[in-house]
Amino acid sequence: MSFTSEVKDELARLQAPRRCCRMAELSALMRLEGSLHLRGPHRITLHTESENAAVARKMFSLLRELFLLSPELRVEKAPRLKGHNCYCLFLGEEAQVAQVLNELSLLDHAMRPVMGVSPRLTRRPCCSAAYLRGAFLGGGYVSKPESPAHLEINVRHSEMAEGLARLSERHGLEMHVTRKRDFFCVYTKSRREQIDLLAFMGAHRAVLRLQSDAVFKEMRAEVNRRVNSETANLERAVDAAQRQLRDIKRVQEALGLETLSPALREVALMRLEHPEASMQELGACIHPPLSKSAVYHRLLRISRIASAL
Ligand SMILES: [Zn+2]
Repeated sequence: MSFTSEVKDELARLQAPRRCCRMAELSALMRLEGSLHLRGPHRITLHTESENAAVARKMFSLLRELFLLSPELRVEKAPRLKGHNCYCLFLGEEAQVAQVLNELSLLDHAMRPVMGVSPRLTRRPCCSAAYLRGAFLGGGYVSKPESPAHLEINVRHSEMAEGLARLSERHGLEMHVTRKRDFFCVYTKSRREQIDLLAFMGAHRAVLRLQSDAVFKEMRAEVNRRVNSETANLERAVDAAQRQLRDIKRVQEALGLETLSPALREVALMRLEHPEASMQELGACIHPPLSKSAVYHRLLRISRIASAL
């Protein structure tokens, strides 16, 4: 199962306790999944198609709970979905359906389709969350935790896309809108927004998965950073030791190490004896032990003598 299907499955199983929220959720779902057909004077059908059985069941049960409607449910093989099952709901009986669609803000009183997000159904925060959940169930996609963050909701009309972006913004969630061939896409590529949006919709299991994955990635990045910086330190130390050896040998050949002061000579001999030791280790070999910075300064003075040659 794809991560998107998993998230939709989780969201579809959520039962909003309040009627206001269930109305909002159903409205968004039908707006995204449904297409209205006026089939002759006595039959409006609302045809919805979903690949996801849990989503189809959700629409079915919401229609029944909220309006006592029993839509006709058909399972079809959709060529568009490469032969996958497609769950279709049909609503008939003009008068009642028109009434229902009006209550759901899908049709206005003149039976014209309403575009965009219904302000009436999204007044409260609980309903906004339910509305976004419905929209995601209808047209959402979310990238799997191990991929770069991406969450999008695809809609047919720009009013709906702008409406969803504004609705998210009202709750501190930033979504962008872009036009694709024949639809509009409301999306975010930020991990923060992806997680916050899913949490707002109520997909807590998905949020946990994303967070644990993000934490894991962060840890791995931190380990890599440390390994890299230790490697870099090590390389720098090796380079420095090479330079020190070269300088000591130049002084040895040109002047002889006996011309150095006892303090410098001691460090120079230690370096020759332990070419790969760190300065700290060199300091520890000397009696009495020298600090790392004392070793460093003595080696620096030898290098100055060498470069003056
Ligand atoms: Zn509500």
